[in-house]
Amino acid sequence: EAKAAGRGRVVRFDRSMHDKVAEKLALETDLRRAIAQGQLAVQYQPIYQLEPRRLAGFEALARWQHPQRGAISPAVFIALAEESGCIEALTDWVIDQSMAQLVRWQSGRSDLQHLGMHVNICSRDLARVSLAPHVRQVLQRHQAAPGSLTLELTETVLMGRLESALRTMDSLRAGGVRFSVDDFGTGYSSLSYLARLPINSLKIDRSFVAALHEGRQSLEIVRAMLTLGRALGHKVIAEGIETPAQLATLRQLGVHEGQGYLLGRPMDAGAVTALLEVADAGERDASGMRP
Ligand code: C2E
Ligand code: MG
Ligand code: MG
Ligand code: MG
Repeated sequence: EAKAAGRGRVVRFDRSMHDKVAEKLALETDLRRAIAQGQLAVQYQPIYQLEPRRLAGFEALARWQHPQRGAISPAVFIALAEESGCIEALTDWVIDQSMAQLVRWQSGRSDLQHLGMHVNICSRDLARVSLAPHVRQVLQRHQAAPGSLTLELTETVLMGRLESALRTMDSLRAGGVRFSVDDFGTGYSSLSYLARLPINSLKIDRSFVAALHEGRQSLEIVRAMLTLGRALGHKVIAEGIETPAQLATLRQLGVHEGQGYLLGRPMDAGAVTALLEVADAGERDASGMRP
């Protein structure tokens, strides 16, 4: 009997494992199809220069509305795309969509020529040779301004094959692409490492912004990150700004740019178009607040 129960358990365990694998495979197949058929969407979250307040650009954020399961979080489908190898097609698609969109927004608007687009990339993207040629082709095809595309990568992305990542970054940089270290402060990069990277900006992780008013220490940490970024010649961007108090403090500290629900949520291209139409970029932000 014990043996039978034991076997039952084994069978049950196997089945649940099997179900999980099958479910993941099904989701992977759906994702592959969604990418191939252009069923993903991109939302754009505004990034503002803080002092004086002025729209600086956007971060492109991928969205997947699954026909049966509804919205799936990027944390889930980006990881899935990375594991299954379809991240490359996804990244290429997001870069193409968002740069085409940026150029459309800028056309006929001399006041919007300074706007930039930030796109997230993964370690697999930096490891492939096709990224740089693809990006070059996209920028050419849409006639995007040099320097208008910034690729965001996390510290962990750079942990692996640094040399090959650096080669890819160099060839992208030759084409006018900029780089930003995303979620800065949450990874493990050493400072010497950071100094070697051809980056243009650091994005202070939103956990530090959230903790800003919880004590002296977190304020000093943000100040130190800002000092470091400045010393290395990088722009410093704060993410996850949710309260006016956080915004005021970051501005006082001299953080260059910021992003967060207070200033503007990620939104569809149409909403951005409307935002850009109602006012001159310098006058108003997505929350409708005056600078
Ligand atoms: P991330 O690059 O750090 O993007 C910022 C995330 O913070 C976004 O989450 C954004 O919606 C959210 N956020 C912005 N402002 C606030 C705020 O004030 N408060 C809070 N609590 N959150 C805020 P999202 O869109 O869910 O994306 C999560 C992550 O998924 C991104 O983190 C990025 O690592 C990844 N991701 C999204 N789209 C892409 C993509 O196209 N390609 C790649 N490789 N990764 C992507
Ligand atoms: Mg990012
Ligand atoms: Mg980030
Ligand atoms: Mg983040």
